[in-house]
Amino acid sequence: MIRIAIQTKGRLNEQSIELLREAGVTIKEEKRKFLMRAADFPVEILFLRDDDIPHTVAMGAADLGIVGYNEVVERGCVVDVLQNLGFGACRVSLAVPKSVEYTGLDFFNGKRIATSYPNVLKRFFDEKGIKAAVHTITGSVEIAPAAGLADAIFDIVSSGGTLISNGLVEVEQVLQSEAVLIATPGLDDDKMAVARQLMSRFDSVQKGYGKKYLVLNLPSSALDEAVKILPAMRSPTVIPLAQSDWCSLQTVVDEKELWSVVEKLKAIGAEGILVLALEKIVL
Ligand code: ATP
Ligand code: MG
Repeated sequence: MIRIAIQTKGRLNEQSIELLREAGVTIKEEKRKFLMRAADFPVEILFLRDDDIPHTVAMGAADLGIVGYNEVVERGCVVDVLQNLGFGACRVSLAVPKSVEYTGLDFFNGKRIATSYPNVLKRFFDEKGIKAAVHTITGSVEIAPAAGLADAIFDIVSSGGTLISNGLVEVEQVLQSEAVLIATPGLDDDKMAVARQLMSRFDSVQKGYGKKYLVLNLPSSALDEAVKILPAMRSPTVIPLAQSDWCSLQTVVDEKELWSVVEKLKAIGAEGILVLALEKIVL
């Protein structure tokens, strides 16, 4: 039995549960407890505040954890980062009120900076030789400058909307983060085997993110051109149709390229184009 810690509630909770579910690890949501056994995989799920996940995994009270990389760095715990999980992307950045003139890192000398990430910030300032007063605030860091509590903030930014609505401008990106799978260093072979199995399933789930399955009919004469347009995993699957000069073509397309690919295929005579959801890619 392996134990995996995830966030009880908050920004990573739903996607952590969803990733586990897609990897075949399901928990019965209706009677959620602090510690739950998965229905279909030898895993126990431990629900914690994200602040506590790195330490819990470092000391082995959970074997694995899903947590923001920013928390791992902030807590400074010794854990193995096994895998990036492709969600919860954000950065931890310095931001200043838009009314001040920002001239570069020197600006922060002698200033008061509010943050929930004091360790990451102090390390950054030490590296850059900046002497500033770092104030640790848990909760709404972004209101600190307007409230007169700080001259600047160091906080998580994803879309940047929170900064704008508080009259702040992001001036330095210090740390890039996303949700990661962490492990207790030196897991035994049995647990590591289960961890590897999970990682390979997570990988398949992630490969399917943002991908679509495309099925279409094409005049056989346009096949060479279609192959050039399609960025298939290896090459598209081609199936002959009853009408001998036509074929059916199947392939995987990145959602970002979907419309441009579809339009190019139509231009070379493709018909009956179906775009289907793609769940997982197992390589
Ligand atoms: P907890 O109650 O578990 O301590 P929290 O309030 O500290 O939760 P959340 O706001 O739920 O934390 O964020 C959890 C993680 O989600 C962050 O540490 C970060 O890795 C990630 N994240 C991604 N985008 C954002 C964002 N826009 N704002 C905050 N966190 C984000
Ligand atoms: Mg927290």
